Order: sequence, then structure tokens, then C-alpha cells
Amino acid sequence: MERDIYTPEHEAFRDTVRTFLAKEVLPHHERWERDGIVSREVWCAAGRQGLLGLAVPQEYGGGGTDDYRYSALLIEEFARAGASGLALSLHNDIVGPYLTRLATEEQKRRWLPGYTSGETVTAIAMTEPGAGSDLQGIRTTATDQGDHYLLNGTKTFISNGILADLVVVVARTTPEGGSSGQSLLVVERGMPGFERGRNLDKIGQKAQDTAELFFDDVRVPKENLLGEENRAFSYLMANLAQERLAIAVGAAAAAEHVLDLTREYVRQREAFGRPLARLQHVRFEVAEMATECAVTRSFVDRCITEHSRGALDAVHASMAKWWATELQKRVVDRCLQLHGGYGYMTEYPVAKAYLDGRIQTIYGGTTEIMKEIIGRSLLG
Ligand SMILES: Cc1cc2nc3c(=O)[nH]c(=O)nc-3n(C[C@H](O)[C@H](O)[C@H](O)COP(=O)(O)OP(=O)(O)OC[C@H]3O[C@@H](n4cnc5c(N)ncnc54)[C@H](O)[C@@H]3O)c2cc1C
Repeated sequence: MERDIYTPEHEAFRDTVRTFLAKEVLPHHERWERDGIVSREVWCAAGRQGLLGLAVPQEYGGGGTDDYRYSALLIEEFARAGASGLALSLHNDIVGPYLTRLATEEQKRRWLPGYTSGETVTAIAMTEPGAGSDLQGIRTTATDQGDHYLLNGTKTFISNGILADLVVVVARTTPEGGSSGQSLLVVERGMPGFERGRNLDKIGQKAQDTAELFFDDVRVPKENLLGEENRAFSYLMANLAQERLAIAVGAAAAAEHVLDLTREYVRQREAFGRPLARLQHVRFEVAEMATECAVTRSFVDRCITEHSRGALDAVHASMAKWWATELQKRVVDRCLQLHGGYGYMTEYPVAKAYLDGRIQTIYGGTTEIMKEIIGRSLLG
């Protein structure tokens, strides 16, 4: 079935993204994977190409569109290219809404021009060594000192952790406040007491820097409070729907892409005197996966459309996230099997897809947490 969510304008943007990937990303990706990090230059190249801050108003250098389909298309193209190092979606879809929706005019003028040009790379730090799924368990504290907060604590698994110049940190401002005692503080590169740990060694997404962050008596000026004090939890809940949709969009595209590669592979690989594609088992495998991808595509596309008109709720975003990422995991695993021993060789894209994709059911809220959210909405 033809997809009908994109217009010719979106397709023109797709060409821009493809050209950017071919010119600025793919020739360097292997080196970045060895280095464990992408270059700063590629962020600036993305900024020049208009790929950063699609939803940021044009006066700050952004794309000025709240049509989420542009973001979705960017994510799809990156997923298909296997370009897992450059975390544009984290910057655009996950951190972006906090800055555009919560920042004051003064903060926007301070942060958004660098954010859209690529000179300022961003991250969001929620997870701690002792608190991931359970965000209410966050122990990082920000103590009110009059004109500033004193920030203390440790965050872990932070994407862009090494490169980030601005980190949106979730910290407890009211010790006894439970989920309504947390605030968002923007910590800037170079603030005394803000240190980064090592670049963590992951099984996949090798070019993506993921790090621990340490805050030791960091003086964060009150001007760097994002939104209102003690309201972080509600801001997180509001923005996590977009984060989850973004991950679902990447998952659906990655599954389709790996299936396409596998169809090619089984057509040309021979066993017992004929192509694998002639074996009934292989045909059934491909038929099942194609069906599951097509069904998923309908739902994810509907979620993209709903989100573009501001109507996607947290429950449907959670459905899309767990379903599409579990599908990706299943499809990539079955496709790897159809590649035989070659599937286990990292030079084959299916092997890289297997390693890169494994995180998808974990970050942005695990599959189990997604089901909790859905279950709560249905059963109380
Ligand atoms: C590569 C990578 C990048 C990341 N990037 C970021 C980032 O940029 N910023 C950030 O803040 N975080 C980031 N994370 C952290 C990520 O969001 C967490 O790892 C994730 O939310 C799970 O938390 P946890 O690791 O503490 O696991 P836990 O919460 O300890 O969960 C362990 C297991 O228990 C299950 N479980 C927990 N609670 C329940 C429950 N109530 N019911 C049923 N099962 C449950 C989980 O589903 C999981 O299977 C990243 C992680 C990775 C690996």
C-alpha cells in the first residue's frame, strides 16, 4: 500500500536528508564507530543544512514548523541508513520541546541560536545509577541558595553525554515532594563541579557517545531553571509521548529496511541448488514479517498524523513504542537467521542492525513500562 502521509514538500525534504547522509555522515560512520563518537563538525553541517530545530521558530534559526512529519521523515532516513551515531532525533525530538516550550524569552535568545546552528549539542539527563524506570526515585538534588541552586548527584547512560554543551538535568528541589518535588535545570559545559565519566562501552550504536555525568556542588544560576520549580514530572510526562513516538518511527523504518535487505539476500543466496527464496520456510518467514511490518506501518503512520495535529496521547505513543520496537527486535533477529553465518559478521548490515537495535525496547521507557502505562489507562 502506498503511504499517504507525506506531501511533495516532505519528499523534497527527504532528498535533502538523503544527500546529507550520503555526503556528511556515511563516509565517516565507520571512523566514528571506532572513535566511539561523531565529530562536532557534522553537527554544524546538520545545522547549515536546516536539520536541527525543525520545530524551533525561525527567528532563532529553526525550521519554524510544528508538522511532525518532517521529524518522522528524518528519523526514517537515518534508520534506513543505519546511521546510529549522530543523535539528531535526541536533539530535535527529545530535548527540543523542553527548550521551545518551557524556556523564557531570555533563555531562548541565549540557547536556541547555538542549538539550531549545531554549535550547541544537547542532552537530557534523567536516569541515575539507582533510578531508571522509576523516575520518582531520582536522588540528584538541587538546593536553593537564593540566586542559584547547588546541584549534587550522578546521572548515567546519557546520550550525547560527552559532546553535550547543554544538559537538561532532572533534579529534586523539594526532598519530601515525591514526583512533584523535581525540577529541570540546564547545566552548561564548563560549569565548575560538572564532570563527565568515560564514554560507556556499548554492544551497539558504537558511534553514539553515552556517558555518566557527575555534579559536585555545581552552582546553577536561577536563570537556568527551565519552566517552573517542582513541575519537572509533569513536563516529562508531556514530552515523553513525542520521545516514544520518535523511537517507534525509527523502529518501524529499521524493521522494513532490514527486511528489504533480507529479501535481496535470500534471492541471491543458493542452497541445495536453488535460491533460498524458493524454500517454503523462507517464503513464509518473509511473508509473516512483511505482514507484521505492514500492520505496524499503518498504526505508526496514524500516530505520526495524530501527533502532527497535536492529538497523540501518552497511551497511544506507548503502544507504538513497545509494539514497533519489539517488532524491530523480532524481525531483525529472524532476518539475521536467514543470513546464516554471514548474518553474524559485523560487515553485514543485518549484524549491525541487530546490535544497534537491541536498545530500542529499553531506552525511552522499557516495553514493560509502556505496558504499565497502557494497563493503567485501561484498568486504573
Ligand atoms: C544506550 C542508552 C542510551 C540512553 N540514553 C539516555 C538519555 O539520553 N537520558 C536518560 O535520562 N536516560 C538514558 N538512558 C537510560 C534508559 O532510559 C534506561 O536505561 C531505561 O529507562 C531503563 O532504566 P534502567 O536501566 O534503570 O532499568 P530498570 O529500571 O532497573 O529496569 C530493569 C528491568 O526491570 C523492568 N521493570 C522496572 N520496573 C518495572 C515495573 N514497574 N514493572 C515491570 N517491569 C519493570 C524493566 O522493564 C527492565 O526490564 C539510556 C540508556 C541506554 C542503554
